[in-house]
Amino acid sequence: MNKPAQKSMRDKILQDYKRLSLDDKFHFRCHSGLPCFTHCCADVNIALTPYDVLRLRRRIGMGSEEFIDRYTILPQIPDGQKLPIVLLKLDEQTKRCQFVTEQGCSVYTDRPWACRMYPVGIASERSEGKPDGDEFYFLLDDRKCDGLAEPNEMTIREWTENQQTAQHDAANEELKNVTLHKFLTQGYALEPEHRQMFFMACYNLDRFREFVFESSFLRKFNIEPAVVDAIRDDDEALLKFAYRWLRFALFHERTVQVNQEYEQAKRKVLRAE
Ligand code: SF4
Ligand code: SF4
Repeated sequence: MNKPAQKSMRDKILQDYKRLSLDDKFHFRCHSGLPCFTHCCADVNIALTPYDVLRLRRRIGMGSEEFIDRYTILPQIPDGQKLPIVLLKLDEQTKRCQFVTEQGCSVYTDRPWACRMYPVGIASERSEGKPDGDEFYFLLDDRKCDGLAEPNEMTIREWTENQQTAQHDAANEELKNVTLHKFLTQGYALEPEHRQMFFMACYNLDRFREFVFESSFLRKFNIEPAVVDAIRDDDEALLKFAYRWLRFALFHERTVQVNQEYEQAKRKVLRAE
């Protein structure tokens, strides 16, 4: 999607789409008997959250760097977007998702948040000049989706429960402490190296783990021993810690404590040189 198109899509959603709450109802049912079955898994832009990447790469048993190379693309950051967000990479020949089969999604129980929620989307008004804007749900206006004409009726709440989005939602709430931080919604931009830090800590967890355990990181910062133990092998704990670290590194929140003894010793060495 090129720059103006992406911006206008967001504006269109904010201005034209009907705003829905968790108790609003809609009609939908997706099943293999529909002529459109799996058509929505082609020619599509699916943004991946860091938790989506974690679940997918664990599902197929792949390291984060290899997964990023093979299954994602990082588009040029469009106007109005402050942070790099990867998209699911489609097969270059067929333009279909690399996980789709004739029987449906081959990674169904670990499919990304956007695939779970479809045809429901979520939008936030929070932006420059509107740091406290609301979030709302909306129904994607997809005329090619026959499921929207099915008689089954449900509320958005029932749909999200049915799609088991709770773990994704909890992880995404923590992500929002970074992506919707007031530093960004008030209009400030990050330095390129901070955007790279965001990308590494969120999407390339194996590299972030190396950064924590194979550098002076654990001498520079006082990280609780229980957290250090947890993040050594547990990717969910590491991602949670990545968000905490980013709030410190990008926005100077006191989410991580500097080891003053280490800093003083370093200053002494520098003065002596
Ligand atoms: S287009 Fe709609 S109904 Fe058809 S497979 Fe996709 S989600 Fe299901
Ligand atoms: S991850 Fe699954 S549901 Fe999502 S586009 Fe690919 S095949 Fe379709």
